[in-house]
Amino acid sequence: MARIPDDLIDSIRSQADIVDIVSDFVSLRKSGKNYLGLCPFHDEKTPSFSVNPERQIFHCFGCGKGGSVFSFLMEHENVSFVEAVRHVARRLNITIPDTYREREASSEAESLGRVTRFAARFFHERLLNSDQGSIVRRYTEKRGLSDETIKSFGLGYAPDSWNDLLNEARKQGIDAAWLVKAGLAKTGEQRTYDAFRNRLIFPIQAPGGRVVGFGGRALSDEDQPKYLNSPESPIYRKSQVLYGLYQAREFFRQQGRLLLVEGYMDLLGLHQHGVHGAVAVCGTALTREQARLAARHGQQAFLVYDSDPAGTRATWRAIEPLVEAGLWTRIVRLPEGYDPDSYVAEHGPDGFMKRVEQADSIADFMGYHANLQESGDREEVFRTLAGLIRKTTNLVHRERYREEAERRFPALQGLLASELRSPGAGRRGRGAPQAQEERVRGEAPVERGLVQLMLNDRAIAELVERQLEPDDFSHPLYHRIVEHCFARLADEGTYDLSGLIDTIDDDETRRIITELINTVDSGIQLEQRARDHVTRIKQKRLKESMTRLMDQIKQMEKGGRSSELTEAMATYMELKHQEKALLQSARGD
Ligand SMILES: [Zn+2]
Repeated sequence: MARIPDDLIDSIRSQADIVDIVSDFVSLRKSGKNYLGLCPFHDEKTPSFSVNPERQIFHCFGCGKGGSVFSFLMEHENVSFVEAVRHVARRLNITIPDTYREREASSEAESLGRVTRFAARFFHERLLNSDQGSIVRRYTEKRGLSDETIKSFGLGYAPDSWNDLLNEARKQGIDAAWLVKAGLAKTGEQRTYDAFRNRLIFPIQAPGGRVVGFGGRALSDEDQPKYLNSPESPIYRKSQVLYGLYQAREFFRQQGRLLLVEGYMDLLGLHQHGVHGAVAVCGTALTREQARLAARHGQQAFLVYDSDPAGTRATWRAIEPLVEAGLWTRIVRLPEGYDPDSYVAEHGPDGFMKRVEQADSIADFMGYHANLQESGDREEVFRTLAGLIRKTTNLVHRERYREEAERRFPALQGLLASELRSPGAGRRGRGAPQAQEERVRGEAPVERGLVQLMLNDRAIAELVERQLEPDDFSHPLYHRIVEHCFARLADEGTYDLSGLIDTIDDDETRRIITELINTVDSGIQLEQRARDHVTRIKQKRLKESMTRLMDQIKQMEKGGRSSELTEAMATYMELKHQEKALLQSARGD
């Protein structure tokens, strides 16, 4: 089994840009030397996730997660180190020779990823090679889907057959069991058969572009259900995916505005007409996780659901998670009988965007749908609004929502404000797990300071290597980091931190490293500070030895072992002398 050689990995690492790759998943903005964004690993409203381009590392000041570009991908995309390396290589158009590909022992997630990739390609080719008279081509033409749309969303065709996909998989050495696991095949009493048959296929991509699942639309009226979705799998959690996010991420980076629609065809219809920045929830009610995912890519959310009663109900349910995720939320009301696809087809992109500009506030939407003559309804609207407004931890939004509500319902003036001031209002989101970090920081501050300087500067790491042993570091974390540092120094010419991080397979250690690097106060007298720290660590070691020895001496005095006692006293004096010399040299005497 051939591993990817280290120098190839090093070369990929050195060409990678962590800002670029993290930006596929997190919307980042420049802040000083670094980039900041909302952490994808914990729930937060204000950005504490920092990416350091100079060091090629990331670190979250909220939850403490940190690492290299590879550890980011491993954590975020739930893949192995090798798969993370391949991901970066693909982005850089670096070819990893075939002998190294697919040969590694792979995780379940990787195998599934391989199967979904294969199936997406298979379906896509079947669509591209279908002749114009075929049922799928007639359908895409009727819906006005251009080749550009078909290609950029990787749309496909599942042929009208029980085993086309299974047969092709067999030819490529993919076991049918994997297709079943990915929801692409089903096992009946007699045999295993293709799950998607005679359907237009929508590959569902994770935010990083990996195909994780499929949706399929029936092409003939007899086929039920009209929409079929592949089930959840270890790589596909429906609540954590938004259809179209991958294609729209560049747009979000520029605009920060998201359109939320219900279905695949709504989204493709908008795209087709040049309205970008839409994502679709596809068959599920919008979850908190999806809202948070959206909030990482934009600041404003416009809900554009169907105008039928089901669409209105889904809108009611979607508002809360969006508000809670800190998105400035608006509702686009389409005339009776329209969905986004049909509306844009009839009124064009300008007509559609006009609707978006005139979107309702939450209070407007409620006022429109509630019967305010009924006192029960009035009470309901008030409670719902107050509940929603207090859900947002964005204080600017809270004020604006309140003002809008009071404008729409003057009777609420004052009431809302006092409700929002009451206990429980403005509860913060779940606290970040900082306790452990505080604990580590509180312990061994000198060791911590020195390790920080060593990570920051190769010359200092070399200086420390000449003066101390890893065992001089008593805190197990710093001891481990120093070992890795020294190994890195001995190993080769480069002393790059992201490479160092990749040699560490322990989360806690990685996060401490990235935290130390990101909190270093740059600049003055680094070397002098390092020397001071070294002195204090040596002094502490000496003191510990002396204390231990003094305990022994006291025991010896009781036991009357005089020859040993004399020797021990001599050693003690020697240590004392060493301490004095250490302090003198530190003062430069
Ligand atoms: Zn975090």
